[in-house]
Amino acid sequence: MRKLQMHTKILLALVAGIGFGFAANRLGFGPFVITYIRPVGTAFIKLISMVVVPLVFVALLVGTASLKDIRSLGRIGVRTLILYVSMTAISVTIGLTLANMVRPGAGFSQETKQQLLDGAGTQGGAPKAGPALDRPSIKDLLLNIIPANPVRSLAEGEMLQTIFFAVLMGICLTLIPPERAKPVTAFFEGANEIFVKMVHVIMQLAPYGVFALIAAVVADFGLGILVLLIKYCATVLCGLLLYMLVVYSAILKLLARTGVRRFFRGLRPAQLVAFSTSSSAATLPVTLKCATENLGVAPSVASFMLSVGASVNMDGTALYQGVATVFIAQFYGIHLEVGQQLMVVLTATLAALGTVGIPGAGVVMLAMVLRSVGVPLEGIGVIMGVDRFLDMCRTAVNVTGDSVCMMVIAASEGQLDAALASRQTQQELQTPPAQVGSPEEV
Ligand code: ASP
Repeated sequence: MRKLQMHTKILLALVAGIGFGFAANRLGFGPFVITYIRPVGTAFIKLISMVVVPLVFVALLVGTASLKDIRSLGRIGVRTLILYVSMTAISVTIGLTLANMVRPGAGFSQETKQQLLDGAGTQGGAPKAGPALDRPSIKDLLLNIIPANPVRSLAEGEMLQTIFFAVLMGICLTLIPPERAKPVTAFFEGANEIFVKMVHVIMQLAPYGVFALIAAVVADFGLGILVLLIKYCATVLCGLLLYMLVVYSAILKLLARTGVRRFFRGLRPAQLVAFSTSSSAATLPVTLKCATENLGVAPSVASFMLSVGASVNMDGTALYQGVATVFIAQFYGIHLEVGQQLMVVLTATLAALGTVGIPGAGVVMLAMVLRSVGVPLEGIGVIMGVDRFLDMCRTAVNVTGDSVCMMVIAASEGQLDAALASRQTQQELQTPPAQVGSPEEV
């Protein structure tokens, strides 16, 4: 076990966790798993979440201060926004198209419908009025990025505000006299190394955390509801898979001119952690580590792109919202006109920008999309029973999307380590997937 690469260990833990959770579900010791094993997973999520704010703050500050050309930030910002919005719009469109073709919400017998609606009550029904059920205005979204009090933003983990303050501080660090800037930069560079090391240390626990999280989810899972909603789940999964394999691969090849296999291989630990934690924000330290160490992206670009991405770029969530909206409409026998479906593209794209990277956030924002086209919010209760599973899958796609955008920007800014890229490609050609690596390697 010690000699295996970290991503292989995580994968094994995932498979073992699924098996164990399934046995617990069938043999009736699910409550034991949920009470005694899930806390190990919770501890892991808390540990990586603990590093997110300090790591993002320090990495962004150091990264921005090290940029040769500060004006490049504006250029990167505009390109990033265009990429995010267009990729999200494509993903909702794929979700809508698939759902219209497959019609997962049509054809339920009256009895099954009742069963699903009854279940909705026990699963908590529509999400509690969470943040921003109404469509946020662009003005509010933008104004909200400027922190009134940066210390509070850091303390409360407000990512966009933290990013804004860190970037501004990094820029100002380059504007003051070098002899004054030097000790500050040295301090934060040291702090950055500490947090990167902390991620290394915490990642040693990843296999145990992933095992516990997955075992608890599967043990708790109502398999009956999965059978009833199998067509809906399959539509979301096919959409996510199609989007990831076709759209991401094409973007990587055409815009980032990078090897697709190398990319997916390098990002695997982050995808697995995203899958098991259902949180792109909590996965951020791992994604950053994969980007700089496995994909050869300069830390300045990686820290900026990934922390912004984890807060605003949610392709997987948008695709799921497209499918879920059509599913619920079909379930209630509501026909969505083309104009309404375009409205879904618009609101789901906006909703994705406003979705935070935590478990279940996509469902809260789904309410906003449903409301925009007049589909009953109660429908959310019908799909709630399988949401955790779909959340795991869409989070893995969200994290992948952030990294795809990062590769495009890094390539266009000449911030991809070509040496690392070619070294990895050569290694790939020479060695089979699961090879021996250092215990610290992720
Ligand atoms: N859990 C997702 C994420 O963290 C957001 C969602 O619920 O769709 O990326």
